[in-house]
Amino acid sequence: MPELPEVETVRRGLEGVVVGRRIAEVQVLGRRTVRRQSPAELTIRLVGRSFTTAGRRGKFLLLSLDDDAVLVVHLRMSGQLLHLGGPERPPIAAHTHVVLVLGDGTELRFIDPRTFGEWFVSSDIDSRGVPAELAHLGRDPLLEGLPTAYLAAHLAGRRAPLKTLLTDQRIVAGIGSLYADEICFRAKLRPDRSGGSLTAPESASLAKSARAVLREAVRSRGSSLRDLRYRDLAGSFGSYQDRHAVYDRAGEPCQRCGNRIVRLKIGARSAYCCEGCQL
Ligand SMILES: [Zn+2]
Repeated sequence: MPELPEVETVRRGLEGVVVGRRIAEVQVLGRRTVRRQSPAELTIRLVGRSFTTAGRRGKFLLLSLDDDAVLVVHLRMSGQLLHLGGPERPPIAAHTHVVLVLGDGTELRFIDPRTFGEWFVSSDIDSRGVPAELAHLGRDPLLEGLPTAYLAAHLAGRRAPLKTLLTDQRIVAGIGSLYADEICFRAKLRPDRSGGSLTAPESASLAKSARAVLREAVRSRGSSLRDLRYRDLAGSFGSYQDRHAVYDRAGEPCQRCGNRIVRLKIGARSAYCCEGCQL
């Protein structure tokens, strides 16, 4: 599922192809993608408007419109945005749920086999540019940084495991299962350690590792997994999967200590870690 680095890569692509462009036509083809408002309402609110900025908060894309409303796009499990230009337009692929035709004749298509992804237009925007529907989101590490003191304050006294706390979007917006495992490995901390058990240096290491892993993953244009679902706007894959130290590597030797990577169960989710060097 796309996390902060993948969504940021898509955002950077959108900046180049939608900002300043007018929306000429909207086709809502699937029934699940537009569910907070009717497809007819979404269409009315988009057609004729122009995009002014391409933003992101956590895993949400925030495309601002020239009437100060914001088109929110959430890729969720399997959503993919593709930008198609040129005269040779391929036919609409299976699982295409929304098509935006832009004023320059190019198209933005939303493909989502699992249909958890979502589109809606919000007019209730706060002073930070965040729609009211996303007011619950915590700090975005790329937009606002992730100071040690902030993370430590949210871990203190918590019995929940680190993996659960790192992926809690109300604390840090944008981290999911994959990057939580990589961040814990980098910090040499087990993902099932309780938040409240961390010492001050361990919290500092966790915050530093989160910043570094996310920054490196953005630089690698995200991670494309074996399902090949994640692609950027042009349809290209990311390359950070080649640098995963633990995620989906159960049974392989740890690059730091040589022990075998194991898969743990934390609640209903799994977590990959090295029991040799993560304490
Ligand atoms: Zn190890």
